Amino acid sequence: MVGVALSEARRRMSSGFTSATLTGLVGGGHWPRPGEISLSHRGVLFLDELPEFGHSLLEILRQPLEDKVITISRAQGSVTFPANFMLVGAMNPCPCGFYGDPFRQCTCSPSLVSRYQKRISGPFIDRVDIFVEVPHIDYEKLADDRLGEQSDKVQARVKAARSIQQKRFEGTKLTCNAEMTPPEVRAFCQAEESAQSLLKAAMKQLYLSARAFHRILKLARTIADLENADIIKAHHLAEAIQYRPRRML
Ligand SMILES: [Zn+2]
Repeated sequence: MVGVALSEARRRMSSGFTSATLTGLVGGGHWPRPGEISLSHRGVLFLDELPEFGHSLLEILRQPLEDKVITISRAQGSVTFPANFMLVGAMNPCPCGFYGDPFRQCTCSPSLVSRYQKRISGPFIDRVDIFVEVPHIDYEKLADDRLGEQSDKVQARVKAARSIQQKRFEGTKLTCNAEMTPPEVRAFCQAEESAQSLLKAAMKQLYLSARAFHRILKLARTIADLENADIIKAHHLAEAIQYRPRRML
């Protein structure tokens, strides 16, 4: 199945990327070798300028993002490599980088902005947990000497949340909230009543998919773990909903 999809992607490859990019990223070659997604197994894969990878290549990533493995088919047989990576991507809002900027005018035409943003498809977006818009930062803030929270404090909070999750999944194959499937989400993501009605309203108003629904609950569970809260409360859920994308055309 993936073999067919890979050759289709090669045929449709646009935006200057070659099949070497595809092989380098997802694996392949005459004698299949692992690509970056397998080399970053249990680690982080950072893709800068995400839309520049092109729609076809990003669509190929959907399957390993879901299944955590990639199978490469050849006439002689197929090879499956592990690919449980944390995807971190960065993108500009448009080719010139200023779409939506309050201080500088975007020079791209609306159709160009739309084409650029549509390289990231809805199903791909559905497989991403957190979207954060990074607005323009002005000089005063950059030059400010005040420091943010110390890293060791953040590390302690993350470690505590991780150990809550290890206890939660004791005796199962899971290690963290992100790995929960829908039955586990139902079992472990209990939300108080006000949180449930907030999610119901968000689902209707933002036309969220079933996948987004489960992602929001898993994320809210993690936010609650960071506060050492047993049950998901409305403010945990509100924060998780904020991490869905708001401004894709
Ligand atoms: Zn622009």
